[in-house]
Amino acid sequence: MVQFSEKILNIASTAEDQIAARLREIDRIADHNQWKVIESFQHHKVSDYHFAGSTGYAYNDRGREVLDDVYADVFGAESALVRPHFASGTHTISTALFGVLRPGDELLYITGRPYDTLHKVIGEYGDGTGSLRDFGIHYSEVDLNAEGDIDWERVEAAIQPSTKVIGIQRSRGYDWRSSFSVADIEKMVKRIRELRPDLIIFVDNCYGEFTEQLEPTQVGVDLIAGSLIKNPGGGLAETGGYICGKERFVNQAAYRLTAPGIGREVGAMMGTTRAIYQGLFLAPSTVGQALKGSVFAASVFESAGFVTRPGWNEIRSDLIQAVSFSSAEHLVAFVQGIQKAAAVDSHVVPEPWDMPGYKHPVIMAAGTFIQGGSLELSADAPLREPYIGYMQGGLTYSHVKYGVLMALQTMSDRNLL
Ligand SMILES: *Cc1c(COP(=O)(O)O)cnc(C)c1O
Repeated sequence: MVQFSEKILNIASTAEDQIAARLREIDRIADHNQWKVIESFQHHKVSDYHFAGSTGYAYNDRGREVLDDVYADVFGAESALVRPHFASGTHTISTALFGVLRPGDELLYITGRPYDTLHKVIGEYGDGTGSLRDFGIHYSEVDLNAEGDIDWERVEAAIQPSTKVIGIQRSRGYDWRSSFSVADIEKMVKRIRELRPDLIIFVDNCYGEFTEQLEPTQVGVDLIAGSLIKNPGGGLAETGGYICGKERFVNQAAYRLTAPGIGREVGAMMGTTRAIYQGLFLAPSTVGQALKGSVFAASVFESAGFVTRPGWNEIRSDLIQAVSFSSAEHLVAFVQGIQKAAAVDSHVVPEPWDMPGYKHPVIMAAGTFIQGGSLELSADAPLREPYIGYMQGGLTYSHVKYGVLMALQTMSDRNLL
């Protein structure tokens, strides 16, 4: 058994008293979403035979078809495309964008610079990679204002006749900004509709699913996309992604994923179906566990003297917990502590390394059952001032607590507390 010091155990128990009411609120959101998912399964009469795998073209794979219907229901959308053939969140988002955009159209991101992996999807004119710009699709973005809100004046000025898609990133990603709640997104939708009703509103929903009672497609967003090795996969889905929204746009994405004329009619599920269903069933509760862990982490790190974002008492719209440690030693101890608490690969010690595409060395903790699965407890941090560590996920609240306390204990063992 690990022995945490008296001081650390005291911090933990004070934190749990402090956050008790917040944890109850998270339970209520999880209940709401759990019941929503179960009712959708019931409505579509999900049955054992839906879980069978399909092969070859997989025409009329009922498990696949009903899975799409269940997702559409849960996300309050006309249509959904849920497939193991999406290799990652980036692939899913890219498919959605290429599905609806045509050469000469413009994509305008209004939440500032999007998530890192999307930069290459946007690409450069003539880069030869088949990026959006390489295909003659234009891109621009409007940074958030100093308060971290949408800069509407600049957004209005940026909308061109060629603007076709408005991009919104719900999650903070690995930025020291706030996430946008679904209520915030609803306001954005109203405002954009006033400006130009025909614009397609796309939300990168990664890390956001089931953190609130509503999803962006339930407040008027046209198209969303996310990864199955994050929230909606419930820790069970082995790979894949989903796209939900207006039927026309989802079909266009399906034509892009497979081929025009084929779309969603083919695609062998190769034995992944049951885990995707069962993962969706577990997702509301598992996301709740991870959120509770993040609230616990915020409270604990605040009482240890660090700055956290969001704070323990703030509304959450994604899984990411950022902590500013102010020193490289604390940051490294934090990440190494999280790794030490893993059930998988606890014996490896993460070290900072020069990851391709990053200006600063990066250190990561990931002891996961699914490679890169970030509904599982993981932590990442670029080694640069002000030494912000990002943690997310945790299949069980208890594991996150263990990880957070191990991080503190590691700091304490190195005389950093
Ligand atoms: C994770 C993530 C992505 C990309 O997903 P990958 O699976 O890493 O390709 C895109 N946007 C946001 C906000 C994310 O959190």
